[in-house]
Amino acid sequence: MKILNNSFTVSTNKRNELVDITDKVKKVIAESGISEGNVIVYCPHTTAAITINENADPDVVHDILLTLADLIPQNKSGYQHSEGNSDAHVKSSILGCSQTVLIDNGQMQLGTWQGIYFCEFDGPRRRTVLVQITGQ
Ligand code: ZN
Repeated sequence: MKILNNSFTVSTNKRNELVDITDKVKKVIAESGISEGNVIVYCPHTTAAITINENADPDVVHDILLTLADLIPQNKSGYQHSEGNSDAHVKSSILGCSQTVLIDNGQMQLGTWQGIYFCEFDGPRRRTVLVQITGQ
């Protein structure tokens, strides 16, 4: 069994944005030579996240961001964190900092409509995504 670590960067353009990174992860897997195993996609940032959701209709991404903004307002009385980005920290924790996807026959076993998203909540910034592939 092999374990390979890799990374790539994502440049975001808005404060809140979901960036489809599926193709970047596919490229890392293809270069790894691992055809059976799993891949962990990990975000080492406290105001960003990784999620998997539909990448066919862009309205889904819009609606996810709209709902998060409603549930977790940017300015809320009672926030104490001095950086002024408490909403971004909360969104990061709710969505989580990683996703795991199974690899079979060299392909991620994503559903037909699933894509992997880097979720920016305090952009624009240049971010790092870590990828660890385990398998053979
Ligand atoms: Zn902060």
